[in-house]
Amino acid sequence: MSETNLTNLKTYTTADVLARPPYRGQLLINGRWVDAADGGTLERKSPAHDTLVAVYAKAGVVDAERAIAAAREAFDRGPWPQMKGAERARILRNVAEGILARKEELALMETLENGKPLAQSRAEVEGAADLWHYAATLARNLHGDSYNTLGEKTLGVVLRDPIGVVSIITPWNFPFLIVSQKLPFALAAGCTAVVKPAEVTSGTTVMLGEILIAAGIPAGVVNIVVGRGNVVGEVLVTHPDVDMLSFTGSTSVGKQAVAKSAQTLKKVSMELGGKNPQIIFPDCDWDAALDATVFGIYFNAGQCCNSGSRILVHESIAQKFAAAVVERSRLVKVGDPLMPGVQVGAITTDKQLETILSHVDAARKAGAQVVLGGSRMNTTGMYVEPTVVTGVTRDMAIASEEVFGPVLSILTFKTLDEAIALANSTLYGLSAAVWSKDFSTCLTAARRIKAGTVWVNTFLEGHAELPFGGYHESGIGRELGRFATEDYTETKTLHMHLGERTEWWLPR
Ligand code: NAD
Repeated sequence: MSETNLTNLKTYTTADVLARPPYRGQLLINGRWVDAADGGTLERKSPAHDTLVAVYAKAGVVDAERAIAAAREAFDRGPWPQMKGAERARILRNVAEGILARKEELALMETLENGKPLAQSRAEVEGAADLWHYAATLARNLHGDSYNTLGEKTLGVVLRDPIGVVSIITPWNFPFLIVSQKLPFALAAGCTAVVKPAEVTSGTTVMLGEILIAAGIPAGVVNIVVGRGNVVGEVLVTHPDVDMLSFTGSTSVGKQAVAKSAQTLKKVSMELGGKNPQIIFPDCDWDAALDATVFGIYFNAGQCCNSGSRILVHESIAQKFAAAVVERSRLVKVGDPLMPGVQVGAITTDKQLETILSHVDAARKAGAQVVLGGSRMNTTGMYVEPTVVTGVTRDMAIASEEVFGPVLSILTFKTLDEAIALANSTLYGLSAAVWSKDFSTCLTAARRIKAGTVWVNTFLEGHAELPFGGYHESGIGRELGRFATEDYTETKTLHMHLGERTEWWLPR
């Protein structure tokens, strides 16, 4: 059993938090908390403070296989897939309330492992609880279809069957939100699951296991294995007893996962990378567009699949706009994510820190101008300065590759056609934004942009009701929205003959 000693959370100071003993997390397999079969452990340090935050049992192949066996058994012989939608909904609502009851503890763990400001972690936890509530409503609404139009003697009924065992693999940038974009919808449909969080941010997912048990989830329905992607993740992607893979992460790992899962023809749902443009027309609401530009690139230290990492601005206002972005970027408060008022925390991993800096370096070498920031900050913890790069052209790597850091590229355009061509010029297609007071400009652009979400005069807003996912190499499928549970089902056709047969194949 894992435990925390984070009590009386409203009164802690940064020093109190850092002085606490590390969180201890085990694997959740078949309703029990267990250590890894080989006794292995995995440690996580806070990227902002360089102190030990958590120690986990580290799953290996054997543990992953046991978790899958438990999920298989729970699906094939357990009560969950047969349970009434209303009963599943009740348990999902219990989970949502359990999340809210432990909001502060979850938020603190997210901040300590990921490096994001505490206020943003709290908002993430609240958003996640809302998704559990929303999935509960869908659990009662999942239904098939029927055809009463096939002739007097034929009735067609289309059933929705839960697909089976789902492997859920998540990244480190919004660990709690992303597991909540998947797991409650799979559960609402009647599936069972094996969940593998990113190894550097496993805490909130392990805590979710505690909440699930308290909420009444039957043993084996949700299994949680902390471990390495190339060990545990690999088993979850390839195992023949898994029916579906729901993956969020990088496009490169995602592509490999799709290829490997194809050996057993699993259904896949893939949420991958993005290089998302915000198109700024001269008649935009200047202040709103500037604010969204700064928020869009620095939120979560730019470690967002949806980060607005490319600004495409009309050449007539480009110079003034870039100068204003730099001015506002200087106002962004970067620092210890436990301190109130901080807007941008630490970079989550040292590997990511290196990746960000190497992208900036490559942009400089390619002829772009780094007009603000571009370096690691000289302090304890892994912080990168808010960075603005101008003079970026379409052929430069920084114009098309995901940096996943607080680094904004600014490109210019002359016409709407050119803006659309630039917006659609990368291999990604996750999201985009259009800024103009002219509705016709907004809608013309929005209709021609190839992206799963196009924001119009706003950015990075999300609602459980609205589907989310990407075109092209940003993914396969959509999460959220009223069809979210359907993704975790198989369709079964009942083709029924009524009454006596009058037509025969062999002569009679
Ligand atoms: P990643 O691809 O490195 O890792 C994602 C998950 O895959 C982790 O749990 C990791 O352990 C696991 N993994 C690694 N190797 C594996 C393997 N061989 N087999 C199976 N699983 C394996 O991604 P990351 O660095 O954790 O996250 C950042 C990426 O995620 C960015 O590209 C970002 O755009 C993307 N992302 C996309 C969305 C979206 O909804 N589209 C949301 C958040 C993040």
